Amino acid sequence: MLVPGLEENLLSVGQMVKHGYYLVFGGNLLNIFNGWSLDNLVARVQMTNNRCFPLTMMLANQLALKASVTRYLQIWHKRLGHLNDRSIKLLEDQEIVHGLPHLEKTYVVCEGCILGKQHRDSFPSESTWRAKFPLELVHIDICGPMKTESISGNRYFLLFTDNCTIITWVYFIRNKSNAFECFKKFKAMTKRQCGYKVKGLRSDRGGEFLSNEFNKYCNELGIQRQLTMTYSPQQNGVAKRKNRMVVEMAKSMLYEKGLPYEFWTEAVNTTVYILNRCPSKSLKKVIPFEAYIGRKPGIAHRKIFGSLCYVHVPSTLRHKLEENSHKCIFAGYRLCEKGYKVFDPSSKKIILSRDVLFDKNASWKWENTDKNEMRVPMFAENQMANCSEGQKQFEVCEPSKSLDTSTQVDEVITPQIEDMFESSQAIDYTPQK
Ligand SMILES: [Zn+2]
Repeated sequence: MLVPGLEENLLSVGQMVKHGYYLVFGGNLLNIFNGWSLDNLVARVQMTNNRCFPLTMMLANQLALKASVTRYLQIWHKRLGHLNDRSIKLLEDQEIVHGLPHLEKTYVVCEGCILGKQHRDSFPSESTWRAKFPLELVHIDICGPMKTESISGNRYFLLFTDNCTIITWVYFIRNKSNAFECFKKFKAMTKRQCGYKVKGLRSDRGGEFLSNEFNKYCNELGIQRQLTMTYSPQQNGVAKRKNRMVVEMAKSMLYEKGLPYEFWTEAVNTTVYILNRCPSKSLKKVIPFEAYIGRKPGIAHRKIFGSLCYVHVPSTLRHKLEENSHKCIFAGYRLCEKGYKVFDPSSKKIILSRDVLFDKNASWKWENTDKNEMRVPMFAENQMANCSEGQKQFEVCEPSKSLDTSTQVDEVITPQIEDMFESSQAIDYTPQK
């Protein structure tokens, strides 16, 4: 737009919207995106004192133009934790989640999948018996020890999978002996959050599940123990299969962005979050999340794990000369559907925020990262919460040194927690589709 007498040209917001740009105002900033997914940031402009947004344009011959197809199957493959094409098509065709666009199939070799999913032995078929009610039978399995401690100092993860709905919870622990404490927390959490009671517990005969206190606790509460025979992993097939899926997806996500080992807990936590929202062979036209919670989740907010991102720092939390945004690494989802967990490499802290911009093509340049050392020796075959995290709009957490706990599904059953954030001035960049 040209205004006679004015020394600057004016850009019309309406014209830009008409041409497919998405403009997000907030925090004294204007962010201009090319496409509704808000993945492609075209420009970010600081508001001046006279409440204008001066945009300096470079000549075209100075720019490197970026071409992108936002509905690429490969992008969603990575956002969904390297999920296989068949399952992604099921999500789309059966409309069992909200927010997944129609995807155009293109064949691209995925390095993350090649490196993370080499192990392909067939798995023993499981029993055909299925529980009729949530938590009628819970499968428990432990994985570890990892060669590298997590940022919080944990070495194992413990998986709880509900036989009826296939929904899974993961807890990270430092020692195998923490498994009993984890089970007590899991049992209390599920009863408190949804009213279901654990009636049966199936595990292998690992010492962590056979302690006197574990047995006594289950006996007193009438929880039926089912212990698999040694060398018969198919008797706990649900847990073993889920265990392997978690390990493979987590490894693929770590490889994809070249993340250091210490991030294995974040990768595993994100994987469980994703798998709870993916099709399962054991369920028909429903995903574990809906089977347990009773509604479809939205997935339009998904991003590629490990991507470089920028967290907007509210003015109340920064000094005058500090930058508005902080460069971080995407480390997973908050339990609500519109929040992100990011890792700040400079402070080595986890930040929870809704106000995050992503650069899916960029990765953090880790110092002294040897690609060979990125092989996650991880996860021995037989052995397994979630990260506890504050539920605030913007929060900095010290990685916990104690037992991490988390639940993958409590966002929908504790709506009062979400209500606390409604008054926040932070901006939600998540597409509402
Ligand atoms: Zn992949």
